[in-house]
Amino acid sequence: MRTDPMRNNPAMSRPPLYVTRPYLPPLEEFTPLLREIWDSRVLTNGGPFHQRLEAALAEYLGVPHVALFNNGTVALMVALQALQVQGEVITTPYTFVATPHALLWNKLTPVFVDIDPRTGNLDPALIEEAISERTAAILPVHCYGEPCDTAAIAEVARRRRLPVIYDAAHAFGVQRDGRSLLLEGDLSVLSFHATKTFHTFEGGAVVCHDAAMKRRIDDLKNFGFRNQITVIEAGLNGKMNEMQAAFGLLMLNHIDELRERRAAMVAQYDALLAGVPGIARLARDASARAANGYYPVLIEPGFGLHRDEVHRRLEAKGIFTRRYFYPLVSDMPMYRDLPSAHPLRLPRARALADSVLCLPLHAEPGDDAERVVNALRELAGVCA
Ligand SMILES: *Cc1c(COP(=O)(O)O)cnc(C)c1O
Repeated sequence: MRTDPMRNNPAMSRPPLYVTRPYLPPLEEFTPLLREIWDSRVLTNGGPFHQRLEAALAEYLGVPHVALFNNGTVALMVALQALQVQGEVITTPYTFVATPHALLWNKLTPVFVDIDPRTGNLDPALIEEAISERTAAILPVHCYGEPCDTAAIAEVARRRRLPVIYDAAHAFGVQRDGRSLLLEGDLSVLSFHATKTFHTFEGGAVVCHDAAMKRRIDDLKNFGFRNQITVIEAGLNGKMNEMQAAFGLLMLNHIDELRERRAAMVAQYDALLAGVPGIARLARDASARAANGYYPVLIEPGFGLHRDEVHRRLEAKGIFTRRYFYPLVSDMPMYRDLPSAHPLRLPRARALADSVLCLPLHAEPGDDAERVVNALRELAGVCA
């Protein structure tokens, strides 16, 4: 548990504001679903709520198949297993640790490639340069839900005959021209962790294109059982349980409203930050229906304070921003000795990691965006 130095501080006029606040629907809406579980005594193993949520999510997201998991990290590990990837996998250093960790758990070697500084996503031109005879797959991340350059990645992958697995943990519900971003590549992996916009406390999913792949993934997440007595592979236990699935169905009733409210807070930030010098934003694809899961800003030299100082001083005001993603995963002890992790190879990812700050973003109405931007203005010495 984090300790919260602000909680009992009488000098604090307002409650602490965290980078996100998990949404919970009214408890009364959950209890009838719990009653159904109590009555049926089906608690897990692909029960009725699990089946209903898979169907409901496939429809909501506009994808053919959704395989539910107990979390996004295990979903990522199983996705790599399902495609029988062996060797090296090209990925981004600018991500959450679960992305490269899923590679290590599969005895795969990450090959880090630098990002496009405008979006924070893998630079497709550099992917091609990093491909060797040992390259077995490409694992890009739709960072903050911003779509990767999927057309360019698909072109490289097609030419070099490599599967593409998207870490789409931030990309729930993202569409371009009415088409789900989760249809890109061979597989896409979602996270339903409490900090994500659509959550099931913990949870995740793999999105796939055909029934045979869905079957394979379902076997792998259930110890490799094909039927009661036949085990076809060394699977693991990645199943989502019935309580999580029931909660997911309830969240789906609220998700559109949640997304609208987050979009409204993003619009508030956009307007309020327009006049603050030294604060920049990443590029956004205007044609995409956005995820709005994060509000990253870049603290540039013109702001007058280093990002770490801004982070610290906002904390003193009870505003808990996060340095997502700092440090780069390629700087962590289990990765930093890889040739591709050398700092000189990843200058853009490093620059972004050193300047980014994710501001509090949630789905509750109020003036929190104003509070954060006023605090930033004070730090910058700009009057409102
Ligand atoms: C949240 C997240 C994951 C892992 O999700 P869990 O459900 O917490 O295991 C993977 N990749 C990225 C980029 C994430 O943000």
